Amino acid sequence: MAKQKMLKFISVDRDMPEKREATLRKEDFNEIYAEFATAKAEEQASRCSQCGVPYCQSHCPLHNNIPDWLRLTAEGRLQEAYEVSQATNTFPEICGRICPQDRLCEGNCVIEQSGHGTVTIGSVEKYITDTAWENGWVLPVSPTQERSESVGIIGAGPGGLAAADHLRRAGVQVTVYDRYDRGGGLLTYGIPGFKLEKDVVMRRMDQLEKSGVEFVLNCNVGVDLSFDDIRAKHNAVLIATGVYKTRDLQAPGSGAAGIVRAIDYLTASNRKSFGDDVPEYDSGELNATGKKVVVIGGGDTAMDCVRTAIRQGADSVKCLYRRDKANMPGSQREVQNAEEEGVDFVWLSAPKGFTGDAVNGVMVQKMRLGAPDASGRSMPELIEGSDYVEEADLVVQALGFEPEDLPQLWGVDGLEVTRWGTVKADFGTGQTSLDGVFAAGDIVRGASLVVWAIRDGRDSAEAILDHLSASASVAAQ
Ligand code: FAD
Ligand code: SF4
Ligand code: SF4
Repeated sequence: MAKQKMLKFISVDRDMPEKREATLRKEDFNEIYAEFATAKAEEQASRCSQCGVPYCQSHCPLHNNIPDWLRLTAEGRLQEAYEVSQATNTFPEICGRICPQDRLCEGNCVIEQSGHGTVTIGSVEKYITDTAWENGWVLPVSPTQERSESVGIIGAGPGGLAAADHLRRAGVQVTVYDRYDRGGGLLTYGIPGFKLEKDVVMRRMDQLEKSGVEFVLNCNVGVDLSFDDIRAKHNAVLIATGVYKTRDLQAPGSGAAGIVRAIDYLTASNRKSFGDDVPEYDSGELNATGKKVVVIGGGDTAMDCVRTAIRQGADSVKCLYRRDKANMPGSQREVQNAEEEGVDFVWLSAPKGFTGDAVNGVMVQKMRLGAPDASGRSMPELIEGSDYVEEADLVVQALGFEPEDLPQLWGVDGLEVTRWGTVKADFGTGQTSLDGVFAAGDIVRGASLVVWAIRDGRDSAEAILDHLSASASVAAQ
């Protein structure tokens, strides 16, 4: 009988992979967590109590078979662990790095609730697939039979790529269109390298190409190629374009030079890390070096901006948020990382306006938390007479994203959208109001998470396969 290796949560403490020292890690854009050594991964996996009803699994959007791959890892059977892990997750090493595990799988681990510290599920998931890459176990898709039908996917973010992978496995011909020069969507140009190194994304792109997915990059659908042309070329279409319209602050002085958008700022920084020519960075417009930086917002995008500014060598970095630490939407883990790296959080503070033609300050109003609103969160209230000016020569607005108006941009009649502008699509299939047109990821959910985009991409791919089969049987009649 196999040696019992599990249930060690009482004798073995929770341990994360080592974090690099803040003084060192703020010098570069590399990931901050070191790799688990094999013995450590096995030890941490062995803490799992192999629950009969695993809440970790039910709270993972992909319903990953977590107890099974933890057991296989603890037993040193890593290739099998990888096979189980990749069966439900298209990009396990990416989710292992950037899922907010504290709100999903790990936040619902029963041993955490019994006070023993959660199993480090994300780190083990990352370890398994990184090891699989190192050992050559991650192979390009090679379908047993090719099909003649083709699917056009608009958007090479995690939603579109997960669908592309799934469809290629079934032998369908897949073309992915993207307006950027590289695939990956926000994995490539939004999320900074200190959370997700870019070669991790690029090796996936390479693998998808080797799997027969055709990429048409630098192709802005609606400008370079019409949506109708794509529809006419393919048997089905998936819209996976994400959400990119920035919520801008409307306040006196908000048009001043030096007030920039988070997505522009992060994209310029990521491009610089790729070694691209980035004039807006070189001119100083989207570069924090030597500046007093104020980032406005309390979500994960704001956390990425403050930590990017630290790495660019800003003089000072402050994050302005109108509620307090306990009520911010961003992950507490990321706040802690930012604090360690030298970011100064100015809680209960809202911008009222900006000073200078080229910005030199943010007029700040202090707030207090009042009664809860309909969602249960305390509403911030103004404290009269508490205004002051926070010095700043670069202000980054990170107030969230909204969908672009696709029907208008693409000139498509009949593509229904919700009152928030997201594409109306069936839950579980992604079927839109147009026949043969599906949608997945942020363009359906609004700004969400990578793991949900992967889930949607996989679900939509399944529904597209059903659609292709149904169309084929109608044609055969
Ligand atoms: P996207 O990743 O946005 O990809 C959409 C793609 O469509 C893009 O490549 C775009 O160029 C392309 N496109 C758009 N319009 C067109 C067009 N007209 N023609 C051609 N191509 C087009 N989630 C996490 O889980 N963890 C994190 O740590 C995290 N950090 C984040 C940090 C930042 C700064 C941001 C902005 C988001 C973060 N997210 C994070 C959210 C996550 O990145 C998104 O939920 C996810 O990428 C959505 O995937 P998607 O495929 O729907 O869209
Ligand atoms: Fe946890 Fe995300 Fe992995 Fe699911 S995909 S197990 S939520 S880290
Ligand atoms: Fe293991 Fe925790 Fe999942 Fe239970 S909830 S199976 S202990 S990881």
